[in-house]
Amino acid sequence: MSVSTKVLTFAGKTEKMRTIVVGAGAAGCFAAIELKRLCPHMEVVLLEKSSKPLAKVAITGGGRCNLTNSFAQVKSLEQVYPRGHRLMKRHFHRFSHRDTYEWFEREGVSLITQEDQCVFPLSQDAMEIVGTLTRLIRQHGINLYTHSKVNSISHEGNGYRVETADRTFLADHVLISIGGQPSEAGFSLLKTIPLKMEPSRPSLFSFCIEDTQLRTLMGIVVTHAKVSLTGTKAKGEGPLLITHWGVSGPAVLRLSSVAAKEFAERDYQGDISIRWVQDEEEDLRNYLRDTCLRHAEKKLSTIHPEALHSRLWEHLIARASLQDDLRWKAMTDKDIHRLTNVLTNDVYRMTGKNRFKEEFVTCGGVALSNLHAETLEAKEHPGLFFAGEATDVDAVTGGFNLQAAWTMGYVAAHGIAARQGDIQ
Ligand SMILES: Cc1cc2nc3c(=O)[nH]c(=O)nc-3n(C[C@H](O)[C@H](O)[C@H](O)COP(=O)(O)OP(=O)(O)OC[C@H]3O[C@@H](n4cnc5c(N)ncnc54)[C@H](O)[C@@H]3O)c2cc1C
Repeated sequence: MSVSTKVLTFAGKTEKMRTIVVGAGAAGCFAAIELKRLCPHMEVVLLEKSSKPLAKVAITGGGRCNLTNSFAQVKSLEQVYPRGHRLMKRHFHRFSHRDTYEWFEREGVSLITQEDQCVFPLSQDAMEIVGTLTRLIRQHGINLYTHSKVNSISHEGNGYRVETADRTFLADHVLISIGGQPSEAGFSLLKTIPLKMEPSRPSLFSFCIEDTQLRTLMGIVVTHAKVSLTGTKAKGEGPLLITHWGVSGPAVLRLSSVAAKEFAERDYQGDISIRWVQDEEEDLRNYLRDTCLRHAEKKLSTIHPEALHSRLWEHLIARASLQDDLRWKAMTDKDIHRLTNVLTNDVYRMTGKNRFKEEFVTCGGVALSNLHAETLEAKEHPGLFFAGEATDVDAVTGGFNLQAAWTMGYVAAHGIAARQGDIQ
């Protein structure tokens, strides 16, 4: 196969400045558009390895694109950004979820905030977000090259040399927005540029559970459960779904995110404790004692906490080594103690992780300590910027990951523009 090598000239002082954005995902496309608005005379080139831009955005939110969150239920950013919350706090003063909302509505996308505070396009179609961004890329004259995997980036004079299999570009600024990489090998394009990396690890996965009895309850949802990885302080709280492979749902995904590092170290094996009810242990014990008095003649299986499905209750009775046809009046103090224990600390063996069709992200990547927090420019490599999941920033589900991509894309674009002196 013949490979044509095209070397573009370095943009000098008298020529147009050139910025190369590597990766046409959420952060890269957003940054390219913002940059072109700030610096209309700058040449902005987007290099994308796959056949089309924004392929991941197209499948976000199950094809509906949960593009941000109202943050109304977020008490602290640490709760939703296990990695990068300080950076996000700083940057939300410049580009927050409200700005995202206004930005997309200004571009003609009507948005809706669901009861759970997740924000979607009113059309419930991720392609509306993809279509809007690609239209703006075209309108602003951004040069998009697909099938252009960047293999290497190196210093060249005061700028950078960016190489794909068949082209070499010289650029004054480079923005790396290649998304989360499953392993460090994904960052090999930066091999000549020393940077501190945080190990790449999956986040946002559900748990495979060994217990076959639990799995027979697939489809049952507990609206408020607490899940923890035993031996750590990591917890996830919220709805929990029992699946045919184990457990899933927001509580589980949150724990997978908060303890992503610990799960990887344990090779996704370990003990998971589930707290099925919200009540304090003492209140729960009182409830059970009271039920023994008020429903003395009834069978154990017929009366249960409202939050629990009757089939799940039967399963939990068995976990406490009790017979479901036992009468409440026959419960001893020891039985009540065992049942309370199962309801508040029910331990299952985790045998692996499962991604199924859910959102997943990678934690780790380019360490934030490499970057000027204000601009996302590499401290040791002037003109080299980073945005999105390629950095060590990631979030739980709910629109927070895309919000990080928009915010960081915006900040990096302003950093590049400020460097060029077009704004400031
Ligand atoms: C199934 C799924 C559903 C999701 N749903 C949601 C959701 O509803 N809400 C939410 O907030 N988050 C969601 N996420 C997470 C969210 O999509 C990502 O966090 C976000 O897309 C990250 O944006 P990014 O620009 O950093 O990376 P990406 O969007 O992954 O873009 C990176 C781009 O860089 C390209 N690239 C990589 N390497 C190279 C290279 N060497 N040269 C050239 N190009 C390269 C890639 O092909 C890709 O197009 C979901 C993720 C998945 C997998």
